[in-house]
Amino acid sequence: MSSRFDIIHKDTAGRIGRLTTPHGVVETPTVMPVINPNIQTIKPSEMRDFGAQILITNSYIIYRKDELREKALKDGLHALLDFDGPIMTDSGSFQLSVYGEVEVTNEQIIDFQQKIGSDIGVPLDIPTPPDVSFERASEELDITIERLQAARKLVTGDMLLAGPVQGSSYMQLRERCARTLSETGFDVYPFGAVVPLMESYRYADLVDVIAASKKGLDPTAPVHLFGAGHPMMFALAVALGCDLFDSAAYALYAKDRRYITSRGTYHVDDLKYLPCSCPICLKYSPEELKKAHNSTELLARHNLYVTFEEIRIIKQAIWEGNLLELVEQRCRSHPRMLEALKQMYTHSEWLEKLDPASKSTFFYCGPESAKRPEVLRFANQLERFTIRGSAFIRPAPIKLDSGYDNVLVFKPPFGAYPQELGEIYPLNAEVPRTPDQESLERAYVNTIRLAELNPETEFTYLLVERFRHTLVDKLESLPNVQIIVGHNP
Ligand SMILES: [Zn+2]
Repeated sequence: MSSRFDIIHKDTAGRIGRLTTPHGVVETPTVMPVINPNIQTIKPSEMRDFGAQILITNSYIIYRKDELREKALKDGLHALLDFDGPIMTDSGSFQLSVYGEVEVTNEQIIDFQQKIGSDIGVPLDIPTPPDVSFERASEELDITIERLQAARKLVTGDMLLAGPVQGSSYMQLRERCARTLSETGFDVYPFGAVVPLMESYRYADLVDVIAASKKGLDPTAPVHLFGAGHPMMFALAVALGCDLFDSAAYALYAKDRRYITSRGTYHVDDLKYLPCSCPICLKYSPEELKKAHNSTELLARHNLYVTFEEIRIIKQAIWEGNLLELVEQRCRSHPRMLEALKQMYTHSEWLEKLDPASKSTFFYCGPESAKRPEVLRFANQLERFTIRGSAFIRPAPIKLDSGYDNVLVFKPPFGAYPQELGEIYPLNAEVPRTPDQESLERAYVNTIRLAELNPETEFTYLLVERFRHTLVDKLESLPNVQIIVGHNP
């Protein structure tokens, strides 16, 4: 099933991929603008101008309205929306979560999505919100899995079928659900019911939900973060392995007179300047934008431009191998995003397995970087360095040709490593000259471990002032380590 998704390039758990649908190939990561079949701020046929490759609409809304249903059944979904590229359809699950019931069954809505020619259909799953009782989450999950497996049997044509991963805020349920769905085999895996987490800025919890769900899936399966449409969090979600997003935000925010940027959101009436170079922001002054009779439409257009701009920035970062540097920058736009960044690195052990071993230069962007998967990988490989005889550990800039058998370089956050490895990723990292405490701590923990792993070797460490840390005492207390103090080079 997942052979419809090819991964072309990887960074961390993020990737550039190609998803093949009946109406064409979609390059991911990407955002699907949400089209309301009743109200269209911007015509679907214009969406390509912003960079959209695939749209998402709601089959339940179409199903419920006679006029829309008849046209969709007669001419097809693509004619109804006047868009000839791929279109994903939702099932009414969202309405189910809001109103508690819907007037359609799982079988009926799957059948309908196939008949109108949807490219990616969604079964009528139950989007269980966060923080409900475990019993409720577990019971609803059983119904969801039952319906998804029934839907899998009902799809006979070439429509791709989405298998939404539910399980509320219970990580074991999310992972179990993902594992079960993976065994059944779906074409796309949306992670559902995460909007309440985003609306309450619980990005750290969102990180856990994504990680738990991803851990249960085949890593090559395409993932859709359902309901995520703010570009501020795309880089983070992509780094965790999300491929598709959907944005109703471009239109909803515009209706609310909100102006989206990748750093956050402005109310348009607060804008003295327009911090953007899209065609709308170049053409209008802030005053004109505020007072225009069609300001909602103009704002929606700006919102779409910046949404797709962020996707291109992310793709370039994956291509270059510096996605984590981008994530670390983006996560500084809000304290709760910073929390999410720290939470992401609690999953470094898992990320490390997916992360390519060699990328472009590692840039140390702040204390969180000391917990990056590459730093963890280096720590996990310390056993591989067998150091015999005597060893001199020098700070990075100091050169030394000495009578020692080995020369090691001390570079936070990694610690000491044989100097001949200095050009190899990630040891060729760009790091601040004066390291922070997190970086030093990691470096000394690793160096102490290296000395303990080679008890026969006599280590001499040239300590300079800017590398002082409480762990130096612990290093010095080892029987095979001697410390000499030098000046800052
Ligand atoms: Zn703009």
